[in-house]
Amino acid sequence: MSRRDELSQNLELVRSKIAKVADHEVTLIAVTKTFPASDVQILHDLGVRDFAENRDADGAEKSAVIPGTWHFQGQIQSNKLKSITSWATVIHSLDDPRHFEIIEKVAPHRLQIFLQVSLDGAHHRGGAGLDDLHALATVVEQSENHTLAGLMSVPPVGLDPKEAFSQLSLIHNEFLQYFPAAKSLSAGMSGDYETAIEFGATHVRIGSSILGSR
Ligand SMILES: *Cc1c(COP(=O)(O)O)cnc(C)c1O
Repeated sequence: MSRRDELSQNLELVRSKIAKVADHEVTLIAVTKTFPASDVQILHDLGVRDFAENRDADGAEKSAVIPGTWHFQGQIQSNKLKSITSWATVIHSLDDPRHFEIIEKVAPHRLQIFLQVSLDGAHHRGGAGLDDLHALATVVEQSENHTLAGLMSVPPVGLDPKEAFSQLSLIHNEFLQYFPAAKSLSAGMSGDYETAIEFGATHVRIGSSILGSR
């Protein structure tokens, strides 16, 4: 089977599973990390327009050759923000107000910003704790340059996805009372996106189910 046929089949399967569970609009983001630009090009040819990367260098390289909406979803390093904000228009992983201060200084265009929320007290996979979330959201919401899109989370290893996404859904609903414009919810990866959608995810970030194992 050609790579194109393989990606096309995988993509169709993911799209049909999304359609089956979604009763609201869902943006499918192809997570292309570790895969070559040639794969991104094939996905673009197949109609995908949203791509995500975890590393600045990879996103910079691939976004230079393939148009689309490029999302950054990795751990943020201050010294990379100038570059990240040059190619990404959506950031899923803001969890520190100091990073937003830098974004305000260096970003050359408007960004859609998701705040990454930690669902485990230990913050193993990044994300702001619930205690810090409102302060962070307030800073972003008050900016004239950027848009607070919503919340993002990666469930802690070992936590049942249903449990994780039901927690996240409660957190988001509460959050919306204070930040009603922040309607988006970025949640769900290859192993759990259908569950995430059932709990309200509007953006799913899918790598291996489309591109294969890394
Ligand atoms: C790698 C990654 C994904 C995609 O994971 P898959 O299991 O390959 O779908 C989604 N979100 C984040 C934050 C990631 O690091």
